[in-house]
Amino acid sequence: MNRAYVGLGANLGEPRRQLTEALTAMSGLPETRLAGHSSFYRTAPVGHADQPEFLNAVAALDTRLAPGVLLEGLQGIERRHGRERSFPNAPRTLDLDLLLFGEEQIARPGLTVPHPRMQERAFVLQPLLELDPEISIPGKGKASTLLCACASQKIERID
Ligand code: ADP
Ligand code: MG
Repeated sequence: MNRAYVGLGANLGEPRRQLTEALTAMSGLPETRLAGHSSFYRTAPVGHADQPEFLNAVAALDTRLAPGVLLEGLQGIERRHGRERSFPNAPRTLDLDLLLFGEEQIARPGLTVPHPRMQERAFVLQPLLELDPEISIPGKGKASTLLCACASQKIERID
């Protein structure tokens, strides 16, 4: 069994409903249990600023799937929830990123773990720390330390 963390994001359609449905869908993945999820956070868009704000969260999964198979499952959920890919950092109805997979470091075409930009994103680090305040990102350091460098990013916990 491996502990994986997944980042969820949405800023089109009904973000709260899409995130909730994605959590349910992840709990239905084969050989996988939804171990928990963070609060939802309202966050400013990164990269392409002229778009609606995002709703973000992080989920913890316990899974026997291989990381690549898990990512395929996540991409299937993205597609079923109407994701369209237009350009990098574009608005989206649902984005699911595989953030961490146990202690593994993976670099192959189509799958990089830890997720390559997670250590610089408050909307990933803060919900992740809610699930595990002591968590470290393999090769990057403690999430709590990394979050200190993101102090300028606007993020608001809701619920
Ligand atoms: P972003 O989430 O950075 O805005 P996308 O979701 O559009 O961008 O990127 C999807 C692509 O990133 C997919 O082709 C996928 O294979 C690749 N990818 C590489 N590593 C990961 C990962 N850890 N989680 C999710 N997608 C990944
Ligand atoms: Mg993604």
